Amino acid sequence: METEILDVEKIKADFPIFSCKSPGPPLVYLDNAATSQKPLVVIRALEDFYSTYNSNIHRGVYKIAERATAEYERAREKVRGFVSAPSTEEIVFTRNTTESLNLVAQSWGRKFVSRGDRIVITLLEHHSNIVPWQELAKEKKAQVEFAGIDKEGNLDLEDFKEKVVGAKVVAFTHVSNVLGTLNPVKEMAKVARREGALVVIDGAQAVPHMPVDISDIGCDFYAFSAHKMLGPTGVGVLYGRRERLEEMPPFLTGGDMISEVHLSGAVWNDLPWKFEAGTSNIADVIAFGAALDYLSNIGMSAVRRHEIALTAQALDELPKCDGVKVYGPSNPERRGAVIPFNVKDIHPHDVSAVLDGMGIAVRSGYHCAQPLHEWFGIPSSVRASFYIYNKGEDVDALVEGVRKAGEVFGR
Ligand code: PMP
Repeated sequence: METEILDVEKIKADFPIFSCKSPGPPLVYLDNAATSQKPLVVIRALEDFYSTYNSNIHRGVYKIAERATAEYERAREKVRGFVSAPSTEEIVFTRNTTESLNLVAQSWGRKFVSRGDRIVITLLEHHSNIVPWQELAKEKKAQVEFAGIDKEGNLDLEDFKEKVVGAKVVAFTHVSNVLGTLNPVKEMAKVARREGALVVIDGAQAVPHMPVDISDIGCDFYAFSAHKMLGPTGVGVLYGRRERLEEMPPFLTGGDMISEVHLSGAVWNDLPWKFEAGTSNIADVIAFGAALDYLSNIGMSAVRRHEIALTAQALDELPKCDGVKVYGPSNPERRGAVIPFNVKDIHPHDVSAVLDGMGIAVRSGYHCAQPLHEWFGIPSSVRASFYIYNKGEDVDALVEGVRKAGEVFGR
């Protein structure tokens, strides 16, 4: 089966890893929820920076430094446009989604959360949207509560609405990295804001895969990572509503984030640099800009339609394999392109090892979401996740591999 929404062969040709000659079968990469592959334009942007204008930003008054600063800030504008944020002052570069969420918990949370406050998250969260809140709650003697889900893994919206009443912070994922569940974030943000709560969204699995309009969603903070959307590792984004960023203290302090330093103290830099202490990850941010151009050329609506088609195919075919149980929403329109499953009582690492022997890369484990696995009563799962360079044949290969794993280990 072929999806034909994207020209996958043409796209694949842009990714050197798929033409890399290594022993064994060709790579079928189905671990995109962990990180994506990188197109040549991104690799070239890194090479170009280091070989033609490598210099520090925001300080040097010479040509290559001015170019580096301009390219770095141009990348910020690309990010703003990509997610329709109101202004570049509200786009902070971090190391990854994890750091973005920690920044909010540590900076806004430590200033404004106090004893007895309630922080509401959901059962669908990645550890990086659980642990920072647990730590904050421990320090402040606040409480973390989890909104529940139904048997398919859809958010229990009624439970969410009840828990959100009187909450100080409400933090939730846009798309689950385990089940693919696509949350109604605009509605959730509206309910939470009506309660006067701070609204924090983990968009790590949404921005790479579908059009996201942060202004339309109406949240206070929105976090995501470059490496899951064709960009380099080491770059994260935190969108923060201007009033929130202004009212909170810096996360890290030192160079670049100040406008003045005296023996008596310091004055913070303007937004967004107040939150970018020290030398930034300049080359990777610039290369992330190239990744955004690449995705924009394809169009995020087309990316989403392509992934829905692949997800529909996998949801249709995988359960036909003997002993396979697939988790998550059954409607491909209501989930991202992430498919967790188990095969009989075979350990996910064993399934993954059989697939690896066929050149198919998937993830096995609890995918940084142990509470969610515990809720389903399973220690771990196999997870296949798709992106723009996957095609129907890859799903066929996965299904064949899963059948083979069932035969090799099946009892
Ligand atoms: N949230 C979600 C939903 C994720 O999928 C991930 C990455 N697996 C993260 C947060 C953490 O992202 P990073 O490792 O880039 O900080």
